[in-house]
Amino acid sequence: MRVMGLAAALAAASLLGAPARAEERFEKVWCLRYATAPGAPLSMLLAGTPPEVKADLPFAMCVAKSGSQVVVLDAGYVDQALGAGFGAVGWTEYATLLGEIGITPDEVDYVTLSHLHFDHAGGTSRFPKAKFIVQRRELEYAAGALPHNSAAKSAFVAEDVLALVKLNWEGRVVLVDGDVEAIVPGLDVYLTPGHTAGTMTACLDTVKSRVCYTSDAVYTYRNIEEDIPLGLALNAGEAVESFKKIRGLLRGGRLIPGHEPRLFEDPESLGFRRVSERVVAIVE
Ligand SMILES: [Zn+2]
Ligand SMILES: [Zn+2]
Repeated sequence: MRVMGLAAALAAASLLGAPARAEERFEKVWCLRYATAPGAPLSMLLAGTPPEVKADLPFAMCVAKSGSQVVVLDAGYVDQALGAGFGAVGWTEYATLLGEIGITPDEVDYVTLSHLHFDHAGGTSRFPKAKFIVQRRELEYAAGALPHNSAAKSAFVAEDVLALVKLNWEGRVVLVDGDVEAIVPGLDVYLTPGHTAGTMTACLDTVKSRVCYTSDAVYTYRNIEEDIPLGLALNAGEAVESFKKIRGLLRGGRLIPGHEPRLFEDPESLGFRRVSERVVAIVE
């Protein structure tokens, strides 16, 4: 009997759901803060916090790089008037932001869209060659039922939804139904709803630990550590159910919340490294 070659053995292992092959693991992961809302009420993040308690709210995206691909987690926003409505200042153009880690927007292969709030889905135009990964439930809800629900519309913008529908017509959208592991090499995505209808968590296999970017499924570490409901959730009970699911997804890895002030104010306290005012290295 012939001994199976290394490549064949690795392929077989991959089919069995084994961890990503070494060359498919992400070697570097950073989180980039593209704007900040100083002195925002912490109750926006942690429901029930007294209104006088304030925090500097970061607006961020994360970037993962392997030998063969660049994946961006969330697209941020580019319409500064929208951010200003939430008190955000210091918005940084993405070419400058990505330049800090030696990446150009042209190099980005995939962008995951955790959900379609303006501060996560408003920057699709800045990634000219990327495909966008989004939950089918999120896009269908945003394009269908949402415009008829005045209570749910806050932080959604019609232009972002229309842009995504157009990208879908151009063959640049990957619609996900629920949980899909290895949707591209080294990237797993999971439905973690409640914040919105189809909020998605993205987990990366890296050369170090697994990294799960929850985006707004978990605003800050305290939400998930203390089971504190999100400041904004279309379905608050479902959002807390998603905390439980996310704990199971971590598998000993690191969690990155969507708007954690500590991530940029004191990354060392979390075991990460500050690269610059706007950049934190998660894996390097
Ligand atoms: Zn959101
Ligand atoms: Zn957000």
